Amino acid sequence: MTGTKSSSEIVHIVGAGLAGSEAAFQVAQMGVHVILHEMRPMRMTEAHRTDGLAELVCSNSFRSDDAANNAVGLLHAEMRRLSSLIMRAADANQVPAGGALAVDRDGFSAAITKALHEHPLIEVQRGEISGLPPAAWKNVIIATGPLTSAPLAQAIRELTDENALAFFDAIAPIVHKDTIDMSVAWFQSRYDKPGPGGTGADYINCPMTKEQYDAFVGALLAGEKTEFHEWETDMPYFDGCLPIEVMAGRGHETLRHGPMKPVGLTNSHNPALKPYAVVQLRQDNKLGTLYNMVGFQTKLKYGAQQRVFRTIPGLEKAEFARLGGLHRNTFLNSPKLLDSQLRLRAEPRLRFAGQMTGCEGYVESASIGLIAGLYAAADARGRSLDSPPPTTALGSLLGHITGGHIATLEQGDRSFQPMNINFGLFPPLASSPTRKADGTRLRGHEKTVARKQATSARALADMDRWIADNLHIQAAA
Ligand SMILES: Cc1cc2nc3c(=O)[nH]c(=O)nc-3n(C[C@H](O)[C@H](O)[C@H](O)COP(=O)(O)OP(=O)(O)OC[C@H]3O[C@@H](n4cnc5c(N)ncnc54)[C@H](O)[C@@H]3O)c2cc1C
Repeated sequence: MTGTKSSSEIVHIVGAGLAGSEAAFQVAQMGVHVILHEMRPMRMTEAHRTDGLAELVCSNSFRSDDAANNAVGLLHAEMRRLSSLIMRAADANQVPAGGALAVDRDGFSAAITKALHEHPLIEVQRGEISGLPPAAWKNVIIATGPLTSAPLAQAIRELTDENALAFFDAIAPIVHKDTIDMSVAWFQSRYDKPGPGGTGADYINCPMTKEQYDAFVGALLAGEKTEFHEWETDMPYFDGCLPIEVMAGRGHETLRHGPMKPVGLTNSHNPALKPYAVVQLRQDNKLGTLYNMVGFQTKLKYGAQQRVFRTIPGLEKAEFARLGGLHRNTFLNSPKLLDSQLRLRAEPRLRFAGQMTGCEGYVESASIGLIAGLYAAADARGRSLDSPPPTTALGSLLGHITGGHIATLEQGDRSFQPMNINFGLFPPLASSPTRKADGTRLRGHEKTVARKQATSARALADMDRWIADNLHIQAAA
C-alpha cells in the first residue's frame, strides 16, 4: 500500500495506545498514509493484557461527560467536534455510569482495532521499535506511553539528556489559588529571597501551631495509602523524592526540619506569632491560578488527602486541581524539549504524543494524539496548522505541555509534572458573570458554577471557530 510513497509522505506512528490510535486515524482522515507500529503481543508492557489497540489498562471510565461544568467533559465535546475515533468508539460502547462516560473495554478496543485495520491508508505493523526510529522516517509520532519499552526510552534519553526523561512521577497536590484563605495564609519567599524570576513574595505560606502540627503528623501516618504495583516497587525514587507520609514516619519532627520548616518566614497577619511549622505552596502555572504544595508528593488515597490537607490552616476550603501521587511513568520535560507543535527541538522529525508529553489520563492522552496527528498530516502536506486557541480545553492542555508551566524557583529542580485537564489551566474570563439570567445576583457557589459554564461556552465557541478556519480548508485541499 505504502510502497510507492516517498518517506516524507508517510507518517510513522510508534505505539497504538490511546494517543497513537487517535493520531493514526486523524492523519489518515487527512489523506496521508500511516504506518502504525505496535509491539504487542510480541512484547507486552507490565500493565497491558491483550493485543488490542487502545487497550484500557485500568479503569474503564473516561470520567465526567458534562461539557458545561467539567473540564474533561468539555474535552470530550471538543474531541467529538474534531471527529475523534476514540470518542466515537467510546460513545458506541458506553455502559451505564451516571454522569460519567464509561465503556465496555473489550468492545471499545475491538472497535478501534477494526477501524484502524480497515482504514485504506493505515498499515498496522506489529513489532517493537527498539531504538530511535530510522533516519529514513521523516515524519514520526512517538506515542509509546507511560510504559515505553526500555530500549526506546534509553535511546530517547541519550538523544535529549539524562534529566529530560523521567521514569516516575512524584506529584504534589495542586490547589486552585482562589480557594486558599488569604486571611490566614500570606505571600512570602523564605528570607524574602527573590531568586531567579521571583519577587521575594512568591510562596503562599500556611502557618501551624504545635497542636495543629502534632495532629497533622498523626493524621498523615494514620491516613489510608495506595499500594505500589509489584513492578513499581524497585523504582529508584525513594531517595530523591520521599512521599510526605514516609518522611513523617521517620520522626515526629522530620517534616519541621524539611518541607514544613518555619524559618525565614514572618506571618504578615500577626508578626509577633511564630509558627511552629509552615506549609508552603508555589505558583504552578504562568496564569497564577494554580499553586502546588511544596514537598507534598504522597501515596495517601485521594479521600485521605482531601481530609488531611484541608486541616491545614488556610486550606480548609481548598479545591484541588490535582491530588498527589507517585507512579511508574515515562514522560519528557516537554516545556524545555518540545516546540509548540510537539516536535523535539533537537530532532524535529520526531513528534511526541500521549502521556509521554506530560498529560495524564486516557482522554487527555488521546486528545494530544489527535492534535499531534493533525500537525503531522499538515507537515506531510507541506502546510502549517495553527495551534488551537489557549481558551479551549485542548489548547490549554497543550499550553501546559509546551510552555504554560513555570520553572521552579529553586535551581536544579525540575518541576514539570503530568497533569489532567482542569479549569485552572484556562486563561481567566475577561469578566466573570455576576448575575443570573433573571437579573438576580449570583451568590457563593453559584459564581463558581457560572464561571465554569462561561469558560466552557467560550471554549466551544473558540473551538468551532478554529475548526472552521483551519480544518475544513485543509481536509478539502
Ligand atoms: C498502570 C496504569 C494504570 C492507569 N490507569 C489509568 C486509569 O485508570 N485512567 C486513566 O485515565 N489513565 C490511567 N493511566 C494513565 C494513562 O492515561 C494511560 O496509561 C493511557 O493509556 C496513556 O495513553 P498513551 O497512548 O500515552 O499510552 P498507552 O495507551 O500505554 O499506549 C502506548 C502503546 O505503545 C506501545 N509501545 C510501548 N513501547 C513500544 C515500542 N518500543 N515499540 C512499539 N510499541 C511500543 C504499548 O504496547 C502501548 O500499546 C494508567 C497508567 C498506568 C501505567
